[in-house]
Amino acid sequence: MTKRIGVVGGGQLARMLQPEVTALGATLTVLDPDAHAPACANADANVLGGYHDEKAIFELASRVDVITVELEDVGVEALARVRDAGTPVYPAPELIALIRDKLTQKQAYERLGIPTAPFVEVAPDDPQAFDNFGYPLVQKTRTGGYDGRGVVVMDSSADYANRLDAPSFVEAKVDARMELAVMVARGPNGECAVFEPVEMVVDPDLNLLDLLLTPARISDELRDSAKALAERVITELEGVGLFGVELFVTHKDALLVNEIAPRAHNSGHHSIEACQTSQFGQQARLLLGLPLGTTDQPKPAALVNLIGAPGFQGETVAEGLADALAIPGVTVHLYGKTECRPGRKMGHFSVVAETVTEVLANARAAKRALSIKGKQAL
Ligand code: ADP
Repeated sequence: MTKRIGVVGGGQLARMLQPEVTALGATLTVLDPDAHAPACANADANVLGGYHDEKAIFELASRVDVITVELEDVGVEALARVRDAGTPVYPAPELIALIRDKLTQKQAYERLGIPTAPFVEVAPDDPQAFDNFGYPLVQKTRTGGYDGRGVVVMDSSADYANRLDAPSFVEAKVDARMELAVMVARGPNGECAVFEPVEMVVDPDLNLLDLLLTPARISDELRDSAKALAERVITELEGVGLFGVELFVTHKDALLVNEIAPRAHNSGHHSIEACQTSQFGQQARLLLGLPLGTTDQPKPAALVNLIGAPGFQGETVAEGLADALAIPGVTVHLYGKTECRPGRKMGHFSVVAETVTEVLANARAAKRALSIKGKQAL
């Protein structure tokens, strides 16, 4: 019988999962409030409804054999109920709930002895609590933060003025020499597949993420430790599904877990072209109860996010696409979002080449060539 996969969320992650599901002879049904969400056109079926909508989640469950998510902000209670009624949900709704509250996530690391920056829960209107913890610190809201929203770095008490007014904790500011992400796929039987650590390369002038590079420029020993730590966290949390584990590397080469995403992750997108089995391939396999594939990555790769350019809005225009694609090893993925806004994630491209030097040069050339913007100037 055809296996039917359901996914809560119809964004780019579900869109990139779809071909892997189809290739294995299964179907993908997408739940999203927007009938034109990126994954909807290619899905086998759609359920129109909110990510928290209990009726829609039950409707999805009635149509599929297994459910996964492409975002954390979902109706975990409804998902727990459909799971209890017999439709497996991966990751477990309780784990999604634990992870999406960054405070309970940190408390789990503490309980399990996973290295992470020291932290304490605070009331945002209690400057004394911030002082007592000690600056420099980072205030994080418990929920709702992503892509740096919900995070404020405070170097001294003068920065308390920038605080976020929401349930929060503070954690020690880590003097990291590098940030890594490690994708881990873990099947229902506990089988794990761990990808090569990905290095976040920061533009030193702009102090912004420039691109993601793999293999990361770290020693073999550190690479093995990062992979082992990522696998250990997911195993200790008894996670089943696909997880992105974000790590800090300190100047003494110690590793600290920053946070986990319980889903496919931006820092794994290069795996579509660079790895024998992509993160989405692993996700499809584990949802279908099939063995995980090899994560081997024969050549270095980079990943660049395509973000809506400032100053423009409206119908999406990809300027310089031909020039970017003329560069060897470049693959572009546009997410099919019709409306482009400044800062919106519109797509990404990956670069695969023989050497890290070549990957970096080709990625930067493609980055200069290609820009995604709205049709109208603001
Ligand atoms: P988000 O969920 O929005 O991605 P993160 O917790 O990953 O939030 O924080 C975003 C970025 O802020 C991190 O990638 C890192 O660069 C910086 N950051 C987060 N926590 C710390 C910390 N304790 N010390 C230093 N920098 C941090």
